[in-house]
Amino acid sequence: MNLTTAVAELKGVGPVLAQKYTKLGISRLNDLLEYYPRRYEDYSVITSTNSLRPGPVTIKARVVSASGRYVRRGMHITEAIASDEHGSVRLVWFNQPYREKALKKQQIYFISGNYELGRGRFSIMNPSVELATDMPANVARILPVYRETKGLDSRQIRKDLLQVKDMICSIEEPLPKWVLSQYALLPLKQALLQIHFPETTRQLEEARLRLSFDEVFRLSLASQLNKQEVKQENAISIPFDEKLAQLFVKHLPFSLTDGQRISIWKIYQDIAKAQPMNRLIEGDVGSGKTVVAAMGAIMAISKNHQVALMAPTELLARQHATTLYTLLKPLGYDSTVTLLVGSMTTLQKKKARAAISSGKAGLIVGTQALIQDDIDMRSLALIIIDEQHRFGVEQRKTLMAKAGHMPHVLSLTATPIPRSLALTLYGELDITALKDKPAKRQPIITDIIFPGDKMKIYEEIERELSAGRQMFMVCPSIIDSDSLETISVETAYKELTEGFFKHRRIGLLHGKLKNEEKQSIMQKFLNKELDILVSTTVIEVGVDVPNATVMVVRSPERFGLAQLHQLRGRVGRGDHQGRCYLLIEKTDLPLSRLKALVSSNDGFKLAELDLELRGPGAIYGTAQHGALDLRIANLADVTLITKATSAAKAFISKKEDLSAYPILEKHIKKIMRVTNLN
Ligand code: ADP
Ligand code: MG
Repeated sequence: MNLTTAVAELKGVGPVLAQKYTKLGISRLNDLLEYYPRRYEDYSVITSTNSLRPGPVTIKARVVSASGRYVRRGMHITEAIASDEHGSVRLVWFNQPYREKALKKQQIYFISGNYELGRGRFSIMNPSVELATDMPANVARILPVYRETKGLDSRQIRKDLLQVKDMICSIEEPLPKWVLSQYALLPLKQALLQIHFPETTRQLEEARLRLSFDEVFRLSLASQLNKQEVKQENAISIPFDEKLAQLFVKHLPFSLTDGQRISIWKIYQDIAKAQPMNRLIEGDVGSGKTVVAAMGAIMAISKNHQVALMAPTELLARQHATTLYTLLKPLGYDSTVTLLVGSMTTLQKKKARAAISSGKAGLIVGTQALIQDDIDMRSLALIIIDEQHRFGVEQRKTLMAKAGHMPHVLSLTATPIPRSLALTLYGELDITALKDKPAKRQPIITDIIFPGDKMKIYEEIERELSAGRQMFMVCPSIIDSDSLETISVETAYKELTEGFFKHRRIGLLHGKLKNEEKQSIMQKFLNKELDILVSTTVIEVGVDVPNATVMVVRSPERFGLAQLHQLRGRVGRGDHQGRCYLLIEKTDLPLSRLKALVSSNDGFKLAELDLELRGPGAIYGTAQHGALDLRIANLADVTLITKATSAAKAFISKKEDLSAYPILEKHIKKIMRVTNLN
């Protein structure tokens, strides 16, 4: 037997159990070793029954009686009495009828649970129990609890791991020695032993630190290596033309914010180099990222190079094309702005393609299809990506193969990236934050609205609409589904058109509509031919409707904080005060998350909070890539992140050869493949 042996080969594990292991993602012994406990029951500190205090407790006591009965409405309750030499205590389980039979009377157990007041008396509620004879003699132990599946519980997993225990000492160390000593880490085999068989909480903490470090170190190293790889390629150097920059600024109807100035300066420094830029500008909605992008673009265009700007939707691409046309007009570069999107007519597309391949098109605006499409860019120097975090190395290389050089990449995003993710997952990007906003904009007023107050709010909204303003209503889904108790656009649209707002002009927008339909509805809303737009999150990013002042979000608990913050940024972009109503449909949900949105207008803070509460996958939708398959590391742990990223950077600066560490190399290659995909 070795670590690649199937679990089915273990003693006592037949095909049935093996099947259940597969359900947990475990097929080989090394999978079992990497199946870290979900939590632990601490039997290492035993309290006597006469000194119990409310909270989690563990006792060692004899079960003297146990009986179960059904109480009202089918609820079952099991009560038992456990005694030690100091006294006795009541144990209570709800809806676990098997407990009565399972408890062996007059046997001594370790009993672990919460000591609390229930039904008028203090009891240990829903405790877990372990027969003292099942525990190693005399040693109070910390027992790992694993994620279980029906028919395969932690007790079984612990038993099977015991058979693998001896193999752990043959596990090779994936990390360089200097990393272990510099960061005071346990060797991997020691950490695996201590995570599954801890004897003290200290051992447990050491093991956790080492295994978490591994996960973050790999993410960080993969991203640093991506950065390295890009740095080694050639890009077109675009020299800084001060006169041109000044001329551009002179024609703006406003003066730049400090944040805009700094970002633009950084971009100019980056693109003047013959190494590809990979910079991300993150700034809240309305912070003025488009102007920054335009100033980058104009430098390249003026030197007869091409710039491709890619937006996540056609709607946005069209809006960007219009904005950029206006911005570039005073300098005479407006004729180089070329839109290329799927919904254009064949003739329009043909003309656009011709302009692109002749080089007449300097600033090409479209969706991501721009680069997937077989378009012949004559001299693509810069790619600007709106609302996408990452543009993969592979994608750049595809372009490089065509152009002979790698384009500079400038990404723009309104979703702030918490520091920990910036260092790990997005470590290959140079990030600049646009923290200040154009001065006159007032923060949006946000309120949580309970179902009973809906009509009152609708009346307030009606006054806004009568004053000529417009409103967005955003819902989490297109159609109702039974499994999710949320309001769909379909339901909301019906409610408004047949109810309180039936005299209003209402449009319906969602992702299932054809592009031309979406286009025409959005255009109508922009032209003020509609008062209300009921929509899914397709309007989330970038769309600018200065006359819209009200944002109503239905079932807001279905959205992430960063997403809600972006949504409310859609309104109040003109001269009038913007308002956001979070219309909850059910009152029994915890409101603390939504309350953060009411009290804070800081997108960065909200993203940090979201990361803590819901994990990175929920914010960035990256979970499906598997790159974030973190089993033990917590990306909100700043100390851990700092250590692991500095180790990854040291690995690079020491010019370590990855192939000297084959196990590490395997992991890293896998992550790099994933994170390159975008
Ligand atoms: P976002 O960062 O969300 O992409 P935009 O680039 O769309 O923001 O800018 C939002 C609005 O703010 C636009 O109407 C733009 O003209 C305006 N704007 C940009 N920069 C400034 C500035 N420095 N002062 C005043 N208004 C500005
Ligand atoms: Mg924008």
